[in-house]
Amino acid sequence: MKTIVLKFGGTSVGSIDRIKKVCKIIAFYKKQKNKVVVVSSAMSGVTNELVNKSKLISSNFDRAEYDALVSTGEQASCALIAGRLKHNGFKSRSWISWQLPILTDGPHSSARIISVGIKELNKYLNLGGIPIITGFQGISNDFRITTIGRSGSDATAIMLAKFIKAEECIIYTDVDGVYTTDPRQYKKAKKIKKIFYDEMLEMASLGSKVMQPTSVQDAKLNKIDIKVKSSFVKKSGTLITGSKKTFSNQIITGISSTKNDAKITIVGVKDKPGVAASIFRPLSKNLINVDMVVQNISQNGNETDLTFTIKSEDLKKTQRLIKKNKSISYKKLSFDKDLSKVSIIGVGMITTPGITYRMFQALASKKINILVISTSEIKISVLISSKNVKKAVAVLHKEFKLD
Ligand code: ADP
Ligand code: ASP
Ligand code: MG
Repeated sequence: MKTIVLKFGGTSVGSIDRIKKVCKIIAFYKKQKNKVVVVSSAMSGVTNELVNKSKLISSNFDRAEYDALVSTGEQASCALIAGRLKHNGFKSRSWISWQLPILTDGPHSSARIISVGIKELNKYLNLGGIPIITGFQGISNDFRITTIGRSGSDATAIMLAKFIKAEECIIYTDVDGVYTTDPRQYKKAKKIKKIFYDEMLEMASLGSKVMQPTSVQDAKLNKIDIKVKSSFVKKSGTLITGSKKTFSNQIITGISSTKNDAKITIVGVKDKPGVAASIFRPLSKNLINVDMVVQNISQNGNETDLTFTIKSEDLKKTQRLIKKNKSISYKKLSFDKDLSKVSIIGVGMITTPGITYRMFQALASKKINILVISTSEIKISVLISSKNVKKAVAVLHKEFKLD
């Protein structure tokens, strides 16, 4: 008898009709004599509505209350799923994270799951029950509700699969797998049959929202294979794995892009040890995520320019923090918004020379200006104007023979 974890995302449980359909998928696995554990997200739109309400109550809403509030959507969807399964004659019940418990560590709204209590779950599974567990949330060691980052139900599913020692973990979503790029943005995107954890991790971190980055990291650390499938259509999906068996020989596996990036340049800062740390210290304290960082080579040995990117929503706060930072001096502060980062990702890059040139040449052929570049072993990212993203994805998709 296999133990299978099934995770359903927001659109998969987005309406009563959808929940009824999801229950048919659950029934399919149960009838094949598996032990089935279900993790569900909130119905689509519900978490966003709760986030908006918190903003209307206070621009500085308490972080602990934020988690208590935004985690409630999952309780409702899980109860609805369990209720429908019982209606159909199955043994089922919902479990809220603290009832297991799912223990987390780290700050509110970006906590990490450290353990999942499985004693009661195992008893229930042995009795033939189907447990339906709230994704996205847990409790801290002082018994406060926590959440594990937006789209966090993916990570709940992976960690449950780890602790319950599941043979399979299937992420059901609204696309039938991981594609070479977002299929809703680019029609010629192709489904990827198998993708390495590292590639998926880069794609997810660089804007492909089909999987939450933390969940891929958890899967990699715990060697848990993930299948991504559609709850809408019955088609083969994508396997996310570390296994090197039967991989295609594509150089580039996928292309990701972000929205709403902003760039800040500090012109004429002192070129001496500790300056970069002084600039970024207040940003880090205020939980502002700094992404790409470029420091120019100093012309005169005294001064340099420093450029970095952040999310547009953090732009005003960042400008304020830099202006009131007494430990740095500079000549000018400039910024740009409506920028996007476009990245090509693939392990094939390690062994193939000339990829950087091909990327830049392809972008140049469409007259797309590159503002900032950053690279790692398996990815190259460029910062460009948001209005050029579609064009850039299309030309790169073609250049690397993904069409
Ligand atoms: P869920 O609610 O099931 O968690 P998400 O909205 O988080 O679903 O993720 C699915 C969406 O991810 C798709 O609808 C698709 O538009 C988007 N997406 C972005 N990049 C990719 C990609 N490379 N492959 C597949 N889907 C992608
Ligand atoms: N409901 C949460 C969100 O919208 C978690 C999830 O969907 O995975 O972010
Ligand atoms: Mg998701």
